[in-house]
Amino acid sequence: LLLPLGAIVAALMVGLVFWLSRRRLSPLGELSIAVQRREFIVHYQPLIEMKTGICVGAEALVRWRRPDGSLVRPDTFIPLAEESGLIQAITDQVIGGVIKDLGPVLVADRSLHIAINLSADDIKSGRVLPVIQAALANSGVLTEQIWLEATERGFMDVKSARATIEEARRLGHSVAIDDFGTGYSSLQYIQDLPLDALKIDKSFIDTVGLVSATSAVTPHIIDIAKSLNLYIVAEGIERQEQADYLLARGVQYGQGWLYSKALPAPEFIAFYNDSKRVHGAGPTV
Ligand code: C2E
Ligand code: MG
Ligand code: MG
Ligand code: MG
Repeated sequence: LLLPLGAIVAALMVGLVFWLSRRRLSPLGELSIAVQRREFIVHYQPLIEMKTGICVGAEALVRWRRPDGSLVRPDTFIPLAEESGLIQAITDQVIGGVIKDLGPVLVADRSLHIAINLSADDIKSGRVLPVIQAALANSGVLTEQIWLEATERGFMDVKSARATIEEARRLGHSVAIDDFGTGYSSLQYIQDLPLDALKIDKSFIDTVGLVSATSAVTPHIIDIAKSLNLYIVAEGIERQEQADYLLARGVQYGQGWLYSKALPAPEFIAFYNDSKRVHGAGPTV
């Protein structure tokens, strides 16, 4: 009887210590445990060719799935992850997640692409490129099917940004500037960097059809985007009126709740198959 009792007491002690340590953890402590436990998963927001309604890709958006099953949005932990350097490990989990979730779908449809968000650190160091190559190896997915995006903050250190973008494109990636119009953008360096695509920030899309100071700027943002000769993606489209406006001004691609929110992988695959069935073109997977 003594031995099992000792074991039970020991187990209770371990449990108590664990409970206390978890309770006492700082936000950074919690985040680093989450990284160790690989608690990061990816949701996918469909990218739509607006003219046809076909889903041509998706943006990978990270979520922290806590042990109780709740999902934490990136805006609440990405800043801390960036300050602390944990972002690199999170980016790696996102890359691994994309290949695991969608590898077979990407192999079956070469025209499909997935955009991954990089932090300023990832762009500055370029460290992420070999990580992606390693994740792609043996998956059958092509480098061309992985697009990279970063906000203007990621391109501020122009010299290292240029080196990373050039190497990324040499490998076959396309590179997009995210949240265009919001940052400290100097049009000069955006013009100088060898980018492929530009995502117009939601704040400009929000005001379409409204009378406001920003809505007066929106057509000019679109004109600038067009004159840079890049693919244009409008983000945060919620109303049909916005889609109509963008289409009339020659914006080809859109994302937003009008089409779909970010979805768990199985639901994204279903959405993608549906879009092909309804709008024509190609086999489903
Ligand atoms: P983002 O890259 O600009 O992503 C777009 C955000 O807008 C996503 O929020 C998306 O869910 C949301 N969104 C899309 N369409 C609509 C719409 O029609 N209405 C509204 N109200 N919202 C819409 P989310 O997923 O919370 O991500 C927020 C930001 O966190 C992202 O902004 C991106 O900067 C960052 N992020 C997300 N995943 C990653 C990642 O894996 N790595 C890094 N470094 N940053 C990430
Ligand atoms: Mg993005
Ligand atoms: Mg964006
Ligand atoms: Mg944005």
